Amino acid sequence: MIRPYNEARRLSGNLQATRLLTLDGESVRLRTVRNCPVCASGKTRSYGQVEIELERTPIVLNYDECNSCGTAFQNPTLTRTARRLLYDANYMKAYGSDRVNLSDPNEQIWRSILSDNRFQALLGIMPSLPKTYLDVGFGFGTSLETAALYGIHASGIEVSSSAWQNAQQRGLNVFNGEMASALREGFIKPGSIDFITAWDVVEHYDDLSRELGLLREALRPKGMLYLHTPDFSTEDTENKHRYFSLDHRLLFSRNSLRNLLEANGFTVLQCVPSQQIGDPRQDIHPSILSDPRFPDAREYVMKKSPMLIDGHWHIGLLATTPSGQS
Ligand SMILES: [Zn+2]
Repeated sequence: MIRPYNEARRLSGNLQATRLLTLDGESVRLRTVRNCPVCASGKTRSYGQVEIELERTPIVLNYDECNSCGTAFQNPTLTRTARRLLYDANYMKAYGSDRVNLSDPNEQIWRSILSDNRFQALLGIMPSLPKTYLDVGFGFGTSLETAALYGIHASGIEVSSSAWQNAQQRGLNVFNGEMASALREGFIKPGSIDFITAWDVVEHYDDLSRELGLLREALRPKGMLYLHTPDFSTEDTENKHRYFSLDHRLLFSRNSLRNLLEANGFTVLQCVPSQQIGDPRQDIHPSILSDPRFPDAREYVMKKSPMLIDGHWHIGLLATTPSGQS
């Protein structure tokens, strides 16, 4: 049984935010953020705090909210060094949101179906079928396998070395590192990618403007970018803080994400709750339906799909790069 993506967390106030952590045996000091990391506005206010446990030690995370653009941001926040330690070899096992048994065939096939549903929906609103696809932060790498079902040449980058190793052993075309090194080292050629996705990735970045510049560099003219990230502009004000976690630095509002994309040269085609990018109960790819590991695929997706609808507030944003520019 898969439990809900994240249980709603209790909000506290007036606690002393944790400023010093131990990650992989190293002491890490969190740094204070002065202005909104998305729009640079100084008009911010305290939103709330959550208590979490890290290696059996309770820590308090504080989040502020920007009055100008509506983004929530971790403050104090992890440094770049801390982030590297967090995504080390143990990330998937210890800190990831995916604390599930990835070797369970049921889990794998569920992920295949979910990934296929998402792919079909996205391909359905694109002007043409992409030939080259890049998944940034591919995690388990199901998206890369799904793309291959549609004859799309798929590659992925991932900062977690354990996730990279796992995908590489399965024969996927993957790179261990950040976008900047993938471009620098020639894993990705500038202007070569038709379609990029980043599922649950942008909330982790230190400098999203810089990363968006790199994604634009990788995309061909009129290339497509799909971002999927928690939605802090959800109307569920009681539970909108449920995605506060150690590795989530930014929680975007639909407006703040749209504005940031446009400020970085993208044209936003859609920015909606992610559930509105297609119905998750669409046709399932025949090769998934005929997978002997999972004879009840169709029943399973009908049963699991409400999980994607209820209390799973994410932004689904599809954007494109200008024509004649790489
Ligand atoms: Zn802001």
